[in-house]
Amino acid sequence: MPLVSMRQLLDEAAKGGYGVGAFNVNDMEQIQAIMMAAKETNSPVIVQASRGARQFAEDLYLFRLIQAAAELNPDIPIAMHQDHGNSFETCKSAIELGYTSVMMDGSLKEDGKTPSTFDENVEVTRRVVDYAHERGVTVEGEIGVLGGVEDGHGAGGSGLEHITDPDQAVEFAERTGVDALAIAIGTSHGAYKFNKKPDGSVLKMDVLIAIHKRLPHTHLVMHGSSSVPQDLQDVVNKYGGKLNPTWGVPVEEIQLGIRNGVRKINVDTDNRLAITGAIRKVFAETPEKFDPRDYLKPAREAMKKVVALRMQQFGQAGHGKDYTPLPIAKMAEGYKSGALDTRPSMAAGR
Ligand SMILES: [Zn+2]
Repeated sequence: MPLVSMRQLLDEAAKGGYGVGAFNVNDMEQIQAIMMAAKETNSPVIVQASRGARQFAEDLYLFRLIQAAAELNPDIPIAMHQDHGNSFETCKSAIELGYTSVMMDGSLKEDGKTPSTFDENVEVTRRVVDYAHERGVTVEGEIGVLGGVEDGHGAGGSGLEHITDPDQAVEFAERTGVDALAIAIGTSHGAYKFNKKPDGSVLKMDVLIAIHKRLPHTHLVMHGSSSVPQDLQDVVNKYGGKLNPTWGVPVEEIQLGIRNGVRKINVDTDNRLAITGAIRKVFAETPEKFDPRDYLKPAREAMKKVVALRMQQFGQAGHGKDYTPLPIAKMAEGYKSGALDTRPSMAAGR
């Protein structure tokens, strides 16, 4: 099956009332882990690569691996997404490679660190939307600024400094026509999200609900949504790691988000922890081993377990074969005719 549009995956998720995990990849084992989990749970898949991942793996290696995943799993819909594009050029290059979805994160300037103005964000995102939709490719935008730093991208901070303003979110959706919107509701990137156990009100639910009510056709995205479970931290620390105590976003909070319009949930840290813990364990218990397969295989298995669990928890499990994926060209027609228009003024009558 060719790679499918992320928009279609998220539209289907909205119909079914579930969320879809978007898992970051840098190499073959991570891609395989996701596909193993998707097969086991019968789940649709969003795979995403950051700019850092594209540099690390080299564009073509990474993209060909995704194509191999699609070819080997013809019955699983897979969307390939650029995570945190920092400029029109970054998004354009991903689309030229064959990515079926891009994030234009115009909440930050091109340096990926300095918050931009609202108008700058609208302008660059609108430009990406025009280019992408003409080609049937999905666009995720971001309004508000997320906390933390991921792969060198991010403004830092706790995630509570720039909570998304619902009025601005509506204006942004109207002026850009994005398919999906990352909103800042208190989450942040990286392993160190909270320095004490969250009390069950981690997310700014009222903000999320207000935005979803006014933008029912724009899919909401949660970034920085690893749960950083204690057992994964424990394995890393037991075998020589030195992670400081930390807490992520509890799965129940994510599920509450999914009940209120969140359709895409970005997870990276949990997989990194699972991989590192598994490798450390092999090194610590059998220091005589030196064949990379001896530790990459358990690492892949550990990530698969985390991904399969999240697929169950987000509700995407069991929905891998619900629908026939549309070719990207069909999506382009839908954008052109207005059938896929998400702008509040245009979508209201549908
Ligand atoms: Zn992110």
